[in-house]
Amino acid sequence: MDALITAVGLQKFFGSFHVLQDVDFAIAKGEVVCIIGPSGSGKSTFLRCINQLERIDSGYVTVDGEMVGYRRDGHRLYPLSDGEIARQRQAVGMVFQRFHLFPHKTVLQNIIEGPVGVLKRRRTDCVQEAKVLLKRVGLAHRADAYPGELSGGQQQRVAIARALAMKPKAMLFDEPTSALDPELVGEVLNVMKELAASGTTMIVVTHELGFCREVADRVVFMDAGRIVDSGTPGEILENPRNPRVKNFISAVL
Ligand code: ADP
Ligand code: MG
Repeated sequence: MDALITAVGLQKFFGSFHVLQDVDFAIAKGEVVCIIGPSGSGKSTFLRCINQLERIDSGYVTVDGEMVGYRRDGHRLYPLSDGEIARQRQAVGMVFQRFHLFPHKTVLQNIIEGPVGVLKRRRTDCVQEAKVLLKRVGLAHRADAYPGELSGGQQQRVAIARALAMKPKAMLFDEPTSALDPELVGEVLNVMKELAASGTTMIVVTHELGFCREVADRVVFMDAGRIVDSGTPGEILENPRNPRVKNFISAVL
């Protein structure tokens, strides 16, 4: 497999707590992987390690062939500078449970903040692209609204557009619909379905098993810091061979 993101022997501790225990993972370009598992199993920490929001204690992560956080020179590894890490992190977009939009900026200003402020691209180009993205997430008519004027589902769709504005190579979603009222979940999942259908490489931590069944190429089950099982949605969700997976799925349904 020509992997876009890999994790090899990934280990992470919080103090003496071993939160990620030897995680091996790979996702190909264009693939959609859903990660499910009980609360506290390390799903968020895993995504945060990929996106360098957490430091890795051992093992490594690569994104598009580059080792995350380090440069290899012969047999030696050198830690990257903060600036190099910031550049690397742009390759991966992340959407969180909470939307983290800038409250005092309009929807459009939120979306162009990264490309204009960080990538130093021409504002007029970024505004054009932001309008296309807003159309894509169904919010073309709300460009001048402030986040506080939007529903949670709309805010999350803006957060997705904002991440896409950086043209990332992959998108990570950490329970993007968990904070939403039930009637707003579908509009966010629909945007994610469209992204998946258009070939976006996506890792999605979610409890929405219907979404996993419909959209995932592969479902990964994490428990207590390990990947316990992995397979097609049919293998993991319909006929789980692993008793822990079986228990989890019957509890979520
Ligand atoms: P999940 O996303 O699967 O619910 P997390 O990755 O958020 O799991 O957390 C895994 C475990 O690590 C939990 O027991 C959590 O309390 C602990 N944990 C997460 N972040 C920290 C932190 N910054 N410091 C200490 N413990 C943490
Ligand atoms: Mg989590």
